[in-house]
Formats: sequence, structure tokens, C-alpha cells
Amino acid sequence: MIRPERVGPENLPSNMGEHLPAQVLCPLCRSGEIRRVKLIDVAPAIALWRQFFQIDITPEFQGVSQMELFRCVSCSISFFTPPCLAGSPQIYSQLANYGGYYLAQKWEYDAALADLRGRERVLEVGCERVYLSKG
Ligand SMILES: [Zn+2]
Repeated sequence: MIRPERVGPENLPSNMGEHLPAQVLCPLCRSGEIRRVKLIDVAPAIALWRQFFQIDITPEFQGVSQMELFRCVSCSISFFTPPCLAGSPQIYSQLANYGGYYLAQKWEYDAALADLRGRERVLEVGCERVYLSKG
């Protein structure tokens, strides 16, 4: 998981805002030219996980009530903040036991392969098994 970096006011020139909020940088290209796409309440996500996976992900949010989806203008990667939202090993372990999460065939693989058509090189991040790469 690539974690976004926050740069606080202490890293800004001295004449710039002590009261500015921390700036979010792109976790891939380190650009500060990013746009917030969406502010998302975590409560509905917690409810959906409980409903579909019977997993309580409340502790994963570490008291955070909202998460932000950003998109980098420079490299187009989308990412969430705050960085503590990366899933814990315990969550992925519970998903492995769920039975419907890690499958050899999922509709997402076909959609991803269609998006990647014509690409010679692909970097897949965060995979456990390599079902997609075998496609
Ligand atoms: Zn970027």
C-alpha cells in the first residue's frame, strides 16, 4: 500500500500560513497538485461490510469519521486519506476466510484486463494471489 504523505506548515516557507491545513501529496509522484474528489462518511461503509461480509471494520478507521478521495492532476492516481485507512492484516485474513473474496475468477478481472488491453507492462500492487496476472 502506498501511503500519502502529509506536509505540515512547518515544511512551508516561513511567510506562509501557520494556520493552513496539512497539505496532501500524491503518494506516487509526490505532486501537491491534487484535487479532492469526494468526502465520504465511514459509517455507511462500516454498515455495508457488516451486512455483506459479517466483518466489523470499525477499528480499522481508528476513530476517523470521514475519509477523503483524492485524484492527482499530474499522474491521475486516485487515493484515500488519511493514511491509516490501509487495511490491516487482520482484515485481509478475515476476508480470506469469507470465501467469496479471493476467487480465481471475478468480473473485476475481466474489466481490468479490458482496461489494460494494449499495455505491455502492468504493475499490480497489493495482490495476494496472482489470478489476474494469469489471465
Ligand atoms: Zn501523482
